[in-house]
This record gives sequence, C-alpha cells and structure tokens, in this order.
Amino acid sequence: MNSNNYRARKRFGQNFLHDQDIIRRILDSINPQGHEHIIEIGPGKGALTFPLLNRVKKLNVIEIDKDLAAKLRNNIEDKDHLVIYEKDALNIDFNSFKYTDLRIVGNLPYNISTPILFHLLKYRECIKDMTFMLQKEVVERMCANSGSKKYGRLSIMLQYYCDVESLFDVEPKAFIPIPNVESTLVRLTPLSHLKHKLSDHESLRIIVRESFSQRRKTIRNALRKYLDESTIISAGIEPENRAENLEVCDFITLANCYHHVRTKIL
Ligand code: SAM
Repeated sequence: MNSNNYRARKRFGQNFLHDQDIIRRILDSINPQGHEHIIEIGPGKGALTFPLLNRVKKLNVIEIDKDLAAKLRNNIEDKDHLVIYEKDALNIDFNSFKYTDLRIVGNLPYNISTPILFHLLKYRECIKDMTFMLQKEVVERMCANSGSKKYGRLSIMLQYYCDVESLFDVEPKAFIPIPNVESTLVRLTPLSHLKHKLSDHESLRIIVRESFSQRRKTIRNALRKYLDESTIISAGIEPENRAENLEVCDFITLANCYHHVRTKIL
C-alpha cells in the first residue's frame, strides 16, 4: 500500500493536508528551532512531520493508526531523528518526556479535539505552547468572550489556563478527503502566572458545566444544588445573571466558593 492508495479512516478523523502553501504557513507560525522539544500529535502521512524534521534535531510523534506509523517509519531515512509512539494521544503522560518546555503541534483529529485539549491542560506546566489545526467552530468557541453565544465551557476552561490566539482560517479544499467544515490554526500558550487563584480544578469544572447546562437559566437557578443565593451575592455576583454574561474571573470566584462549601461538608 503506497501513500496514494491509503484510504483515510474516518474513525481516526483522518483528513490529510496537501496544500503546500498552508503547510508552509503552519511551519512559519510554529517557527521551530533546532534544539526545541517538539511533539506532533497525529502525523498521518507526514504533511507536517517532514518539514518539521528539516528544522529540528529530534521530533516525537504520536500516531494511533499502526499502518500510518509503519509507513512513516519506512519513509524515514534518519531513524534516530524521529521517535514514533504508536499510541492514543489521550493515553500519553506528557510529564514522561521530562521536559518543561514542550511544544505540541498537530492537525488534530476533529472527532476528539476537545478531549485532547482537556487532556493536555493537565500537563500545562510542562508545555511551552501548542499549535493546532482545529475545526473553525471549535476555535471560535475557544476564543469567545462573555456575552457571545459561542462563549461556554471550552472558552472558560482554556482561557483560564492559557492565552488562546486564533491564527488563520483554512478552507476544506486544503485537505484530502475534503472535510465538510472549515478549519482554523490556533495557538495556546499556558500562562506562567494565573491571574486569579483557583482552589481546585474539579470545583471549576463542576461550576462551569452546571452553569452552562441550560444557558437560558439564571446562575441562581443553574447552581441551585451547589451554591445558595446569599453565597453568590456575597461573592459579588448578581444571581440574575446568565452564565454567558459572567467573566472567567467570576467563574473562578464561584468555583472557590463551591470549594469552600465542599470542604466544609467533608
Ligand atoms: N498530520 C496529518 C496531516 O496534516 O495531513 C494528519 C492529520 S489527520 C486530521 C489526524 C491524524 O491523527 C491522523 O493521522 C490520525 O490517524 C491521527 N489520530 C487520530 N486519533 C488519534 C489519537 N487518539 N492519538 C494519536 N493520533 C490520532
């Protein structure tokens, strides 16, 4: 099977980049330096892998599809240069790379892009930045500000921990097979100093999930089981507000109140 007759596997979200101009623009955005510790998620047929290999001393790639991993291995001349992990990126412990300045890149499988982002957030302390091609609609949600219909769980959880920057849009025809959605390149840079102190991540996860479970509900009603109205008011938040009108820092305040309530009960 050569790479031209390989049939893309839908279950692995395979849409291969073939537009050389887009590939060049992605490389320019990453701007890889020779000594850097770069990990590519989902190298596929190597659209980004080969140009990356021309720029760095060593490249780690994580590919779930064993056929594609084998093809990549066969096509590579300098075997010491490329380390291939035939694994699911969702099961990778990024701390095991033992570096604190990882640069993670990839044209991600769109069907599991959100779980991958949340998985990577757990390792933010060892990540310098992440540059990903994602579905445009997902990037819009990642970057959305309060007051927008696209503002929600993804915006808050990512913006609390990272600087999120939408870089440029990519048309479907840049890929084979052609996806039925537009794409956007996005950069996430974990913040070295978080602007607001969070007591625990789990409290934030619960408060954000519940607040947006029904967007039309007021915060008072959405969080009824978790925080009483007087606690919300004493935290300086108007209980009549809807989740989409609260800022990221308001969710941190509510999560800290909830943490306090939980730890008092335990
Ligand atoms: N980087 C290639 C390109 O730009 O042409 C391929 C991109 S394709 C959208 C996504 C790639 O991620 C595929 O190679 C697919 O097999 C791989 N993949 C899918 N799920 C994965 C997972 N859970 N862990 C690692 N790789 C995965």
